[in-house]
Amino acid sequence: MSETRERIKCLIIGSGPAGYTAAIYAARADLHPVMYTGMEPGGQLTTTTEVDNFPGYPEGIDGPALMIDLQKQAERFGTQVRMGMVTEVQLSKEKGGIHQVCVDNSTWVEAETIIISTGATAKYLGLPSEQRLRGGGVSACAVCDGFFYKGQDVAIVGGGDTAAEEATYLANICNKVTMLVRKDELRASKAMQHRVFNTKNLEVRFNSEVDEVLGEQVVEGLRILNNQTGEKEEINITGLFIAIGHKPNTEIFKGQLDMDNTGYLITKGKSTKTNLPGVFASGDVQDKEYRQAITAAGTGCMAALDAERYLATVESNEEVAAK
Ligand code: NDP
Repeated sequence: MSETRERIKCLIIGSGPAGYTAAIYAARADLHPVMYTGMEPGGQLTTTTEVDNFPGYPEGIDGPALMIDLQKQAERFGTQVRMGMVTEVQLSKEKGGIHQVCVDNSTWVEAETIIISTGATAKYLGLPSEQRLRGGGVSACAVCDGFFYKGQDVAIVGGGDTAAEEATYLANICNKVTMLVRKDELRASKAMQHRVFNTKNLEVRFNSEVDEVLGEQVVEGLRILNNQTGEKEEINITGLFIAIGHKPNTEIFKGQLDMDNTGYLITKGKSTKTNLPGVFASGDVQDKEYRQAITAAGTGCMAALDAERYLATVESNEEVAAK
């Protein structure tokens, strides 16, 4: 017996700023969006405390509170927000085709359009002391949290473009920045390396790894291991920034959607269109460069507008065919 699957006009996968903004716009355009929140409802912002750089909040706002506000706003216009994890997709290659989506390995639904806003997950070192002090001085976003360490001594781990950019950003705000690089060279572009080496209060330590983050409730210091000599040294810092890369949450789309060599979804030109009709991508899942809540929200808005226009062309083609 064939099951009857629920048909959704606009399915949104993921509940960060991109997903909720897409939902607000899609709901207001009568696309009756349904959102599946994923494993971390609210996304990365729910793991931060104060958000000071989202426009419209002059006094700042808690990350989780901001996400609750976004959810309420999306629901006010009729978005159905459902707890659930999309575990498999069978995407149509045809314009006007119907995409099949499995939720929680059990329920299949059909979608005329899909907006993917599954985000990216910051990588951490995996040390128990690092995990314990997340939110207590350990952060994976210098632009979000650097301000709280104004005039203080901090450290950053990583040798790529992100680490280099964030290290120079922190050097502008903090007293001293120690950059820990596990190899004897930076992976960052030459231009970024130049900036790093020309920043006075930024010290680069090569062949250096974090052995342990020190402090009970908050970060008080760092024990550094020199992986060439085996020597260990302790330094005093109040903030530790991890900048060793992000992993986009795109596993379930592999083989169906175009991705770059690090797994980020590729969108066409200035749009949010993927390589398949009716499938759009917004937020960090397609952006490894800016990665801000506000830029994610902006692309969420774009994805809803792209979905609305796509549905309009599909419907007008159907009307012409029916005549
Ligand atoms: P990358 O993967 O380029 O760099 C990660 C860095 O972290 C490397 O130095 C790596 O070391 C180090 N690392 C990884 N794991 C560990 C670990 N467990 N312990 C210590 N160090 C570790 O990531 P980025 O986020 O820097 O950049 C991602 C992409 O985005 C790149 O293509 C980059 O060019 C781009 N980007 C561009 C920007 C710009 O143009 N303005 C800004 C930001 C990013 P190792 O080298 O030893 O592997």
